[in-house]
Amino acid sequence: MPAYVLPPRGGNPSTQKQGTNPGSFALPHDLGGPRSFASPDTPGMPEPSDQTAWDFLPPGWRREGDRARAPAGFEPVTQLESARLGVVTPEMRRVAEREGHLSPEQVRAEVAAGRMVIPANKVHLGMRLDPMAIGRASRTKVNANMGASPVSSGTEEEVEKLRWASRWHADTVMDLSTGGDLDVTRRAILASASVPIGTVPIYSMIIGRRLEDLDERAILEGIEHQARQGVDYMTIHAGVLQEHLPYVERRLIGIVSRGGSLLAKWMIHHGKQNPMYTLWDEICQILRRYDVTFSIGDGLRPGGLADASDAAQLAELETLGELTERAWRHGCQVMVEGPGHVPFDQIEYNMKLQRRLCHGAPFYVLGPLVTDMFPGYDHITSAIGATAAAYHGAAMLCYVTPKEHLGLPKRDDVKQGCVAYRIAAHAADVALGIPGARDRDDELTRARAALNWEKHFELSFDPDLARAFHDEDLDVDTDFCAMCGHDWCSVRISKEIVQFVSGKDTRYARGAARVSAALTEEQRAILEQRGVLAPEEIHRLASKTRHRMGAEPGHKASCHSDETDAERAKRLQAEEHPTA
Ligand code: SF4
Repeated sequence: MPAYVLPPRGGNPSTQKQGTNPGSFALPHDLGGPRSFASPDTPGMPEPSDQTAWDFLPPGWRREGDRARAPAGFEPVTQLESARLGVVTPEMRRVAEREGHLSPEQVRAEVAAGRMVIPANKVHLGMRLDPMAIGRASRTKVNANMGASPVSSGTEEEVEKLRWASRWHADTVMDLSTGGDLDVTRRAILASASVPIGTVPIYSMIIGRRLEDLDERAILEGIEHQARQGVDYMTIHAGVLQEHLPYVERRLIGIVSRGGSLLAKWMIHHGKQNPMYTLWDEICQILRRYDVTFSIGDGLRPGGLADASDAAQLAELETLGELTERAWRHGCQVMVEGPGHVPFDQIEYNMKLQRRLCHGAPFYVLGPLVTDMFPGYDHITSAIGATAAAYHGAAMLCYVTPKEHLGLPKRDDVKQGCVAYRIAAHAADVALGIPGARDRDDELTRARAALNWEKHFELSFDPDLARAFHDEDLDVDTDFCAMCGHDWCSVRISKEIVQFVSGKDTRYARGAARVSAALTEEQRAILEQRGVLAPEEIHRLASKTRHRMGAEPGHKASCHSDETDAERAKRLQAEEHPTA
């Protein structure tokens, strides 16, 4: 073999350590340090911070080794407080069980350092919540967004989407409803969810109220109400400050975060600082009472490649670091939200700057999309960015569906988004050398080498799709498939070469090809949906709104608020969605 010098090596992501691969090219594991599972730093990247949550203890606390001493009579409420006091909670034990490669003590230590969060509201724990963790030492997590909008969906559909997202392995779900009965939808989602539920409380604060009328009392009451309902983590856009707004003026697309744009408008109207920022200490006290985890929002995230890593985004990120420190001093768990739309080459810098400014608090990123010109395919453009983000430092990836920028995701969009992001998260975990991350890939490779189709499908992430696609061409399990055919099937030929191990795993090897079971109803439906809608039918479905608005054939109706009579718009919305 040629004597190549291999890059630094993390662990082998296969627990069986089989295969010819030398293991991951990430850095060696540094559990308990700032580089638990980390990519090597490209020259010029920001170093990790030399501080952690241990440097931001509440007043009166004292650190003693890997434990802290609290003032007499103190009772821990949050996972962070328990971890600081050396207590391993049942939730930490459950996280260790689910992760597999971490001990309960390691989970405690990561939570105490602020590098891991367990979003588990005390109220939701009393329902069906199964605790999980978000942090660099654990596997990369995926969030699915859902929620009714004023023009589409309702409570039942949202609960169904929650079940569907869980079916496709979303680790957390955010209810971003802005329409329908928000309270009823949130309650229904919390009651059904075994995954943590996140919200953006400002959305419900402006239902039935003009944004300009939003005041301190409404903000604190709104947050406390949702905390009492059991919400596990909340996005609070406290980092958008008055002094950041001039940086936005030259952007191509201004502010694309809903919360960020609402608060910017409020600040300009009142000539005052962001109320989420000025109320930060009071908000921390509320979130601590229920152990709601902060997801500190990035209200100035870039909405296009041209606005990425600009002054507005990075100035806000500095403030997010300050807010992280203050929340840790209150005993709150913290993760930080990130962009958005970022060119591929800038992703590592963005991840490592956050690691430095926010002292290792888990980074929860949306995508990022690495190109802007593929609407309808943004689950792909963003999954590419998400894979790079997870490799370079993100702990949780917020999915993007094919409907991004175009409309409210439907059931199948939720599936497509979840699948794209599970691929991104899994690819990063394998690359980072997380122990056991590659085990199922290796098993599938063995089954594939043996041309054992049943096992091949069983180990697939989406067995129904794999089986249906296979049987679309050949509904018999032969020792080849329809792609290359018998004579050119390299896997079959390799299997026949006696010197090779490939295809001869005794668990999967078969004497002869077998007839497969008939397709199930679900698998048949997958095939039936392939290419059956005629272009005219697609156009008819897409034109429903145009007909409703009474637009002439060949023209679209305009609904831009600066062109349309507001009363007419309201009337139309009320007719379409009386509950909105
Ligand atoms: S026919 Fe081609 S694609 Fe199919 S199993 Fe053989 S090598 Fe793989």
